[in-house]
Amino acid sequence: MNTFLSIVQILIFGGLVGTTFYFGFKKFKEIYSNIMLGKPETINTTLGFRLKSMFLIAFGQKKMFKLTFAALLHLVIYVSFCITQIELIEIFLDGFTAGHRRIFHLAEGTFFQSIYVFAISFIEFLTLLTLVVTIIFILRRTTFLINRFNKPELKGFPAKDALTILTFELILITCIFLMNGADSAIRIKELGHGYGFLIGDIIGSMLAGLSLGVLEVLEKIGWYGHLCMVLGFLLYLPYSKHLHVLLAFPNTFFTRPEAKGEIHNMPAIMHEVKSMIDPSYTVPATDGEVQFGAKDVFDLSWKSLLDADTCTECGRCTQACPANITGKKLSPRKIMMDTRDRMEDITKGKKEHGPDFIDNKTLLGDYITAEELRACTTCNACVEECPVNISPLNIIVELRRNLIMEQSDSPSEWNTIFANMENNQAPWQFSPEDRLKWTEELN
Ligand code: SF4
Ligand code: SF4
Repeated sequence: MNTFLSIVQILIFGGLVGTTFYFGFKKFKEIYSNIMLGKPETINTTLGFRLKSMFLIAFGQKKMFKLTFAALLHLVIYVSFCITQIELIEIFLDGFTAGHRRIFHLAEGTFFQSIYVFAISFIEFLTLLTLVVTIIFILRRTTFLINRFNKPELKGFPAKDALTILTFELILITCIFLMNGADSAIRIKELGHGYGFLIGDIIGSMLAGLSLGVLEVLEKIGWYGHLCMVLGFLLYLPYSKHLHVLLAFPNTFFTRPEAKGEIHNMPAIMHEVKSMIDPSYTVPATDGEVQFGAKDVFDLSWKSLLDADTCTECGRCTQACPANITGKKLSPRKIMMDTRDRMEDITKGKKEHGPDFIDNKTLLGDYITAEELRACTTCNACVEECPVNISPLNIIVELRRNLIMEQSDSPSEWNTIFANMENNQAPWQFSPEDRLKWTEELN
């Protein structure tokens, strides 16, 4: 390649990569700010606990295997996603130096050549498996309509999002095979043999009848196509549920240590109860007005907001939710999706109308209804099922506390119980003084 063309290639490559990283960085910064809209929460765990949780749950996919078939399909995509990135090392090296298969030529004639050929062949094998799995995934979402993918919250963008990524994958796979196949065909034409790639050489021998010029164009289409799909994926990722491929790691790293289902006491209520039990107890002074529960994302903790951004929309929580199974409006997946939508709408509003913009909406009421919140039995099944340690229950409990304690919005049957607890320190309509009256008639 002459010097002018080399410079043009480096500039195009650098421009594509630079633009992607610039816009990608901006969007990831925005996601970080969204998460930081939440209140502080201290997660009291050791580094060992955090690493163990991250390696077992995010890296090791431990909880995925509760659904074996889905887990195996996901594992193929996951391993393939991680390992095929090795090929990117050479693509970046070639792109920034206007070279062609630099690593192969460095290794050529040495022991490392076999390792290189094995690595590319293994990547091709995984890519072929990924092709099969991608087709199964598309069929599961379009033809077989698996129950957990056929819920109201998945209509519209979420359904398109899943199919968009699967289409990305199909194009990427085509580009990888086109790139390796055309490249092998060129080598077959020039040297009489290919590189030794498992699938690239087979495609190469099929394409070897084409002219050298056409093969070079095909190889470039495959090469740039591969690059553009990877960069496009990086740019699309922050807008998609596939953000979990990155956020699953910090989210599991910051797993809450409490036993599942443990509900935190509200300090203000705790003090009130203590003063009821012991009239000599002095309630500590508080700074400003006490708010019970959460009305909007600002009142939730940053960990709950990280949970929302990490949600994969897999629906395992909704599938296990007794409220959802029995036809109630509640879907824990929707709770997570609504929380994420609310964060994004706040940021979008501020971008469009300035940093002081207030849209007069709240997560509670405008996104999540009282009917959904009331349907939760706090059974914890959603938390148990989530493959990336998300707790929809935490958000539900916080919103429900606000609904009931700040807005007094609860069914009348509940109000009687609450009034009794407040006045009689028990759910029944008896004064505390009368509590032992039943013993009077006993012998
Ligand atoms: S805790 Fe609530 S939301 Fe979660 S599974 Fe149970 S009923 Fe459904
Ligand atoms: S909360 Fe967990 S289980 Fe539910 S949809 Fe999101 S990732 Fe899946």
